[in-house]
Amino acid sequence: MKYPENIQETAKLLPDYLGFIFYEKSPRFFNGELPEIPKSVQKVGVFVGASLYEIRNKIRKYDLELVQLHGNETPEFCALLKHHNVEIIKVFLVDENFDFEVIRPYETVCDYFLFDTKGQNPGGNGTAFNWEILKNYPSQKPFFLSGGIGLEEIKMIKQLNLPIYAIDVNSKFETAPGLKNIKLLKTTIAAIVQMSLRPVLKKNKTMKYNITENGFYGNFGGAFIPEMLYPNVEELRQNYLNYTNEPGFQAEFQQLLKDYVGRPTPLYFAEHLSAKYNTKIYLKREDLCHTGAHKINNTIGQILMAKRLGKTRIIAETGAGQHGVATATVCALMGLECIVYMGEIDIKRQAPNVARMKMLGAEVRSATSGSKTLKDATNEAIRDWINNPIDTYYIIGSVVGPHPYPDMVARFQSVISAEIKQQLMEKEARENPDYVIACVGGGSNAAGAFYHFLNEKVKLIAVEAAGKGIDSGESAATSVLGKIGIIHGSKTLLMQSEDGQITEPYSISAGLDYPGIGPLHAHLFESKRAEFMAVTDDEAMQAGLNLCKTEGIIPAIESSHALAVLDQKKFDKNDVVVINLSGRGDKDLNTYIDYFGL
Ligand SMILES: *Cc1c(COP(=O)(O)O)cnc(C)c1O
Repeated sequence: MKYPENIQETAKLLPDYLGFIFYEKSPRFFNGELPEIPKSVQKVGVFVGASLYEIRNKIRKYDLELVQLHGNETPEFCALLKHHNVEIIKVFLVDENFDFEVIRPYETVCDYFLFDTKGQNPGGNGTAFNWEILKNYPSQKPFFLSGGIGLEEIKMIKQLNLPIYAIDVNSKFETAPGLKNIKLLKTTIAAIVQMSLRPVLKKNKTMKYNITENGFYGNFGGAFIPEMLYPNVEELRQNYLNYTNEPGFQAEFQQLLKDYVGRPTPLYFAEHLSAKYNTKIYLKREDLCHTGAHKINNTIGQILMAKRLGKTRIIAETGAGQHGVATATVCALMGLECIVYMGEIDIKRQAPNVARMKMLGAEVRSATSGSKTLKDATNEAIRDWINNPIDTYYIIGSVVGPHPYPDMVARFQSVISAEIKQQLMEKEARENPDYVIACVGGGSNAAGAFYHFLNEKVKLIAVEAAGKGIDSGESAATSVLGKIGIIHGSKTLLMQSEDGQITEPYSISAGLDYPGIGPLHAHLFESKRAEFMAVTDDEAMQAGLNLCKTEGIIPAIESSHALAVLDQKKFDKNDVVVINLSGRGDKDLNTYIDYFGL
């Protein structure tokens, strides 16, 4: 791109990337001022043999997010450039004699490859190469395809069935060098959408923050389970992706989410809250789900999984009773036997939820060992599963437990971010917000709200319960207080004593009162992909009351923790901030009454 007005008009079509050539010999050489363009459109600087110093200056001046290298840049050069916090696209010019060996040294230092036609100029020659050569592509790295691509060629790309990540269009869409034909671009983008080519392309992106095949997020995850459980977990691991990808499964899941749960939940622009904090705040209304929180998204998914596996008996563990109620609900719906393990102390503390489970036909079994709370209930549930491996399915309530549970639960909850994307497109003409904020107990509502943004340029904020203060000895802020260990069959961060005994967590909010976090969140914390914040009981309670008064919505105390971030962090006036309102406050009325003396 070269001309400001043309840049803006093209940006309005929301391509994934816009490119600017910083090569003086090119007729498309760009040296002007950049007009404002939507944040979802990433800026790529294109260089041919430029020095590190020149590239760094352009990155700073134009706020470039990627650089495309068209010269003889070495792998060592790319490695140095990586320090400047940009993604690197290394270009290779292809003719009939192309040898894929040349890409190998760049595997670890570049983010993408780009294949262009070998012609007279370093690019923009307007001719295509023989794409059949790409059938021998030996790498897993996503690549861009370039060189003489027009609408006709795009139709061919669809048939090629190659792992192409993005299409780079240039001279065939120009009326003069650097000047794009907007009408033609529009028609072509419409054709790409109609061919459903876009998701095909996008899925080839590097999914740095998603789970690996053997169940790890970075250093965390895995399946650390007693041998007796192995057959059960392995049966699930082998089947969960096949079953969830079946069109029949998806159809039933989506139907139930729509008609039974009440999805899509609204993405509500909170006008008064936005005015108060001088930024654009959207609330994702999971509080409007059937049973009052996001938890039902997961239990619906898992009950369908249990049915596919031919199981007839369902077990679960619950702390505050919310997951127990969501499980009892779907068991009633499907006519399956339901046993919920719950600590003896929790049964006393959470009488209304115990009553709900009973009304829904579940049996609530008391865990009387240890501290008589959630972790003891979990031990009982696992013991039950070991003893009943054939007919029993264990529904876990968050993105915790041995692989594949964290990934499976995250996928079921990912409907939250899928909807956010669509709804933001309607309301803001962009798919990605600037921030997504969610509270973390085990981390399932946060995983669902983050899921489709993990590999996008969206800032993620995970909010933990600081209880009475991080250093008070009464807290549940696992990312700060936890150390690596194994809980619930998964290697993750958890709060533990010097000799590795799990520490009893505390929060005023029963749903955040968990001594660990799921392995995805441990990875997001360690890699700094998400910012972790801790909010005290008092801060959360005030934020909850504030939402009641400003928007007429009584939030769950868990969700109030996410809302409290508004008091702790300053957002820009034009930022789009999405807060996941994980649940409604009905269940917390007594706590609100006691706290505020109502
Ligand atoms: C259970 C619960 C949570 C915490 O669980 P996650 O798995 O971290 O989402 C948060 N909010 C509400 C309303 C809950 O019921």
